[in-house]
Amino acid sequence: MDTPFWLAEEAPPVEELTLEAVDVEIIGAGITGCSCALALAEAGKRVRVLDRRGVAEGASGRNGGFALRGAAARYDVARETYGADAARELWRRTEAELDRLEELGGDAFRRTGSLRLAADEEERDEIRAEFEALDEDGFGCEWRDQLPDLLSPHFRGAIFHVGDGALQPARFVRGLAAAAADAGVDFRGGRRVESLDELEAEHVVIATDGSGRGLISELDDAVWPARGQVIATEPLPERLFDCPHYARHGFDYWQQLPDNRIVLGGFRDFSILTEMTDEEVTTEEIQGALDSFLVELLGTKPRVEYRWAGIFGLTQDLLPLVGPVPGRDGTWVACGYSGHGNVLGLLCGRLVAEAVLGRRDPLHAVFDPARLLQIETR
Ligand SMILES: Cc1cc2nc3c(=O)[nH]c(=O)nc-3n(C[C@H](O)[C@H](O)[C@H](O)COP(=O)(O)OP(=O)(O)OC[C@H]3O[C@@H](n4cnc5c(N)ncnc54)[C@H](O)[C@@H]3O)c2cc1C
Repeated sequence: MDTPFWLAEEAPPVEELTLEAVDVEIIGAGITGCSCALALAEAGKRVRVLDRRGVAEGASGRNGGFALRGAAARYDVARETYGADAARELWRRTEAELDRLEELGGDAFRRTGSLRLAADEEERDEIRAEFEALDEDGFGCEWRDQLPDLLSPHFRGAIFHVGDGALQPARFVRGLAAAAADAGVDFRGGRRVESLDELEAEHVVIATDGSGRGLISELDDAVWPARGQVIATEPLPERLFDCPHYARHGFDYWQQLPDNRIVLGGFRDFSILTEMTDEEVTTEEIQGALDSFLVELLGTKPRVEYRWAGIFGLTQDLLPLVGPVPGRDGTWVACGYSGHGNVLGLLCGRLVAEAVLGRRDPLHAVFDPARLLQIETR
């Protein structure tokens, strides 16, 4: 029961390759590590990916399957907090990354759009401000006052984000890993890195999002592990939702899959302190809240066939850390997507690869790890 629905399908075989010496070692075989590995291998680097589990067995195979543009903050808030130019660049680049996801994703990705719902009047004002900011800057979105009968008793309006989509995240990342292996990347599953001193390559990339505690202490202070819990029902007899839906500031999220199952996650705020953990287990409290919401939303109680938990990395400003770790030559990081890592992880894996290759990108300044990392005196 605690296997995520996404990981339950059979994984395609990944070409096995053992390299004697490598230029770059990447810790973490999720979307970030695989994206980074592929970019570096395509640039001619010899690359090894190490993971204590297998490909996509961390958050990348345990999430809600939402593929959204932008970052974890609302666009209007992002403009104020990060600056208008940085926010615009970030939203523009994640839209382009969604196009790339569509190109690479095959049947793992559906370009459905997504619906952000307001649960009360206050949230309605907030998302209305987001809608106006997006519209002003030319990002595709539609305001919805009229909601379908199923949603109208619970919600007070919504933004439809036109270019977003729905992802089978494990299938997508396994495909990415297969492409990286074809490009010559050496994948080592079942290999836990206890200390960076074990590694030999000139460059090490930490791609562990919220589950890399203990690797380097300054990262432990800057990226806080958070647990998300999810359920997947049996297939329903009817089609109710055409695209991913989310509400209550993203705390609750659900989508209906092509076989009509509902995947529903969230309610972390029902026990926010106990959910700030990297213990990957489900709890009665959150699972109970998910079950109750399902009944409230659907008016029926479908059988729940899968229940699981996953860990993601939160940062203070809700932006990831991507680039060099200050004071540690040859150590690089890409993590801390704050629950928004499907599209950003694909992008940031490539951005950190670009940094390792010595190439500049305007987003490096926005995601610079130095803004949150203190130099460790060792
Ligand atoms: C329940 C849940 C729902 C989410 N929903 C969404 C969503 O709908 N949309 C969205 O965009 N984002 C979502 N996210 C966030 C998203 O899943 C993550 O941000 C993203 O998958 C991070 O990918 P990653 O490759 O950076 O890290 P991960 O996929 O977590 O991979 C990190 C890997 O590092 C490995 N690792 C850690 N430490 C070590 C070590 N010491 N040695 C070796 N290996 C190690 C782990 O085994 C793991 O495989 C959700 C997350 C969760 C948990």
